[in-house]
Amino acid sequence: MKKQFAVIGLGRFGGSICKELNDQGMEVLAIDINEDKVNEYASVATHAVMADTTDENTLRSLGIRNFDHVIVAIGDNIQSSILTTLMLVELGLPHITVKAQNDYHEKVLLKIGAHKVVHPERDMGIRIAHNIVSKNVLDYLELSDEYSIVELMAGQRVDGRSLIDLDIRAKFGCNIMAVKREEYIDVSPAPDQNIKKGDILIVIGADKDITRMEQALF
Ligand code: ADP
Repeated sequence: MKKQFAVIGLGRFGGSICKELNDQGMEVLAIDINEDKVNEYASVATHAVMADTTDENTLRSLGIRNFDHVIVAIGDNIQSSILTTLMLVELGLPHITVKAQNDYHEKVLLKIGAHKVVHPERDMGIRIAHNIVSKNVLDYLELSDEYSIVELMAGQRVDGRSLIDLDIRAKFGCNIMAVKREEYIDVSPAPDQNIKKGDILIVIGADKDITRMEQALF
């Protein structure tokens, strides 16, 4: 059976999740308190309804408890975001993802039982900053406050050098998890394998170590 998703709040973030889920062939219920937003998404989502999700009876009448995953994308109205999340937790939803506006909002959301909290603006800011500092940082995934996974494009400085020669683990404390060359991904790169300019290295490590390595080699 297809997974059922509900997206609450159809601003830029919620709206884009809604469109993407629909493009991936998922069933999506789109909910917003604003009628114009609901009309805008009527043809994108499987169903679009106008509702105030801070009202418990409204939430129940939408049958929200039958959904596999609910995304709370209410932006500026932190009180509504928290109240909605609290009720979803109390209804026992298995997956609740919530967009946070700031660190305090995130703390409260985690405390009341949200399963995943995202900060799209902050995360995108971090990615873009890394990409601006070094054009070779293609992507950046934060694992925790301290650890990340980054995709780095090999340039002139590492061209033709082997992983043994680069000795990244000993010198920087990071691990190369995989090397992508065109369509092929080697998920257990051999130590004597030579890196070629244009290869993409997928590296895991502490942020400070990754930054040191980026500056030295990329
Ligand atoms: P973004 O920064 O992602 O564009 P916004 O704050 O602009 O986020 O959008 C949040 C959306 O959430 C708005 O369309 C707003 O109408 C909707 N919203 C706010 N409060 C509620 C609520 N209580 N119930 C349902 N939708 C809500």
